[in-house]
Amino acid sequence: MSVQWFPGHMMKAVRMMEENIRLADCVLCVLDARIPRSCLNPDFDAVFGSKPIVYLLNKADLADPAETEQWRRALGIERTTALSATANRAVKDVTRLVETACRAKMEAKRAKGITYVPRAMVTGVPNTGKSTVINMLCGKGKTITGDRPGVTKGKQWVRVDGVVDLLDTPGTLPKRIDDETAGVHLAIVGSVRDEVTDTADLAVRLIRELTSDFPGTLSARYGIEESEDAFESLRGIARSRGFLLRGGEFDWERAAAALLDDFRKGRLGRITLEKAQCSITKETFPNTP
Ligand code: GDP
Repeated sequence: MSVQWFPGHMMKAVRMMEENIRLADCVLCVLDARIPRSCLNPDFDAVFGSKPIVYLLNKADLADPAETEQWRRALGIERTTALSATANRAVKDVTRLVETACRAKMEAKRAKGITYVPRAMVTGVPNTGKSTVINMLCGKGKTITGDRPGVTKGKQWVRVDGVVDLLDTPGTLPKRIDDETAGVHLAIVGSVRDEVTDTADLAVRLIRELTSDFPGTLSARYGIEESEDAFESLRGIARSRGFLLRGGEFDWERAAAALLDDFRKGRLGRITLEKAQCSITKETFPNTP
């Protein structure tokens, strides 16, 4: 298996993850329910190999429930569930999907008289909630911190609900490097801060999407008139919030930061930026049946 298409600094992490995936029977791929498409990368196919995949649409509390249901159907209801790892214990939903994904192996073992506990590993791009999902599945007693890529040293399998063994550390996958929209969406939800650093630019991109696809959202939150000119709307947010610099200039940066924070915390409502209908292709979802 080759991982040469990933950026150099990710290579080691991806290789280690491939090793770990080899030890697992299935992959739990955690997606941000607001931007599932951007959380996937066609190159994951090579990393996951032939292992069955279970998709976890996490942060469902921040996404539009109807859209999340569309995504569940699009990705396959037999291998996808929606959850809010910070809010609910969805252990049974996840273990059931793992057992379904690993049924062939479990049945083959059972035919030989062996009771087999399937092994799963959590993966996903940064900040989708992988560690939170592991904590949710493994229970309160266990604390997992940080976002270490690669887990070869000191890895541990933790039994979940008596029926699934879970690797106690997630694998962090690289995001797509060829897709500008995916980069912007990941930055908007707070997944990649390094690439798109200009807060005002990011806010303008978000304003454009909200104004065209979710009209009324900005006026409801900030009491502004939504303009075709996104900069005008950003100025409106600064004005309505009283964000002024010395000399009476509007404080764009502060307005942009406030808007992004409001979006990330769900204060603009439950908004899914990427619709399932427009997104499912063999190219974006190489593992889609
Ligand atoms: P990781 O980088 O994928 O391991 O992500 P973390 O587990 O560290 O979570 C990233 C951030 O998302 C943290 O601030 C979590 O509290 C938050 N988070 C995780 N799951 C959820 C969820 O279901 N809903 C909400 N609203 N926040 C979540």
